[in-house]
Amino acid sequence: MFEKKEPYQANSPAIPEILLGANVSVAKTGLLAAIQETISYDANTYMIYTRSNRGGNARPISEFHREEGLSLMQNHGIFDPVVHLSYLVNLASPKEDTWEYGISILSEEIQRVEYLGFRYIVFHPGSHVGQGEEYAITRIAAALNRILSGTEKVTLCLETMAGDGSKVGNSLEQVADIIARVSHQEKLGVCMDTCHNYSFGYDIVNDFEGFLKQFDQVIGLDRLKCAHINDSKTPFGSHKDRHANIGEGSIGLEALRRIVHHPILRNIPQILETPGGKYKSEINLLLNRPLVDAPSALSIPL
Ligand SMILES: [Zn+2]
Repeated sequence: MFEKKEPYQANSPAIPEILLGANVSVAKTGLLAAIQETISYDANTYMIYTRSNRGGNARPISEFHREEGLSLMQNHGIFDPVVHLSYLVNLASPKEDTWEYGISILSEEIQRVEYLGFRYIVFHPGSHVGQGEEYAITRIAAALNRILSGTEKVTLCLETMAGDGSKVGNSLEQVADIIARVSHQEKLGVCMDTCHNYSFGYDIVNDFEGFLKQFDQVIGLDRLKCAHINDSKTPFGSHKDRHANIGEGSIGLEALRRIVHHPILRNIPQILETPGGKYKSEINLLLNRPLVDAPSALSIPL
């Protein structure tokens, strides 16, 4: 069936296909580097960090080659890229300067991402560092209430975590609790992460439908805006956050394939954050495409 692809634009209507890509680099040429890397994986979406996770000043967003980038995306059928916020932000921090730093970085990131015209910023809700979950949830919501004015064009996506360290946002209930305390809830979404969800104790391998049902009841599936597709180096319920290559961890290829192809994830950017630069073959595996360099192998239709 012929399907016409709509050109990319911010707030464009949903695109009815699997959007699968990887966490790519913006080194040197900004979006051009990210998109070239995405093209090299035959992927149709991607994720970037616009600033270094080592801190320091962010590169001016005007150096990211926005115009050329957006037209390159249009020409190559690449849609709905995602920005991941710096790991250095902890909106749950009890330390005033760390908390204020997080608020200023996320506020700035909203401006930067709106300039690029992307729709989503994914962020880790935060770590309570000893103060307890209730404290953290209140603190994160307070930060989001400081940041959001309701006029934002981007959606801030809370990422579901693995329960490692003192992180919050591990259970769907915790994520819902944060959202419930924010005034401009319409600006919030959720990014699921297969590694984190499985490690925390959601059995997405044997019962992904059950997970989705719970997600819908607790948060609402309309908030699911992004997915991180990673295998896990640690077993079910381990509360560890160790990403494995696709098919090489405790989740396994078949389960990840089922998730990637699930109708609920159509139109939603799905991003690999796996180690070792194997993105091209991992994407091919997940999409049932012929493996890299397999000459004229028959493609299995989706
Ligand atoms: Zn993340």
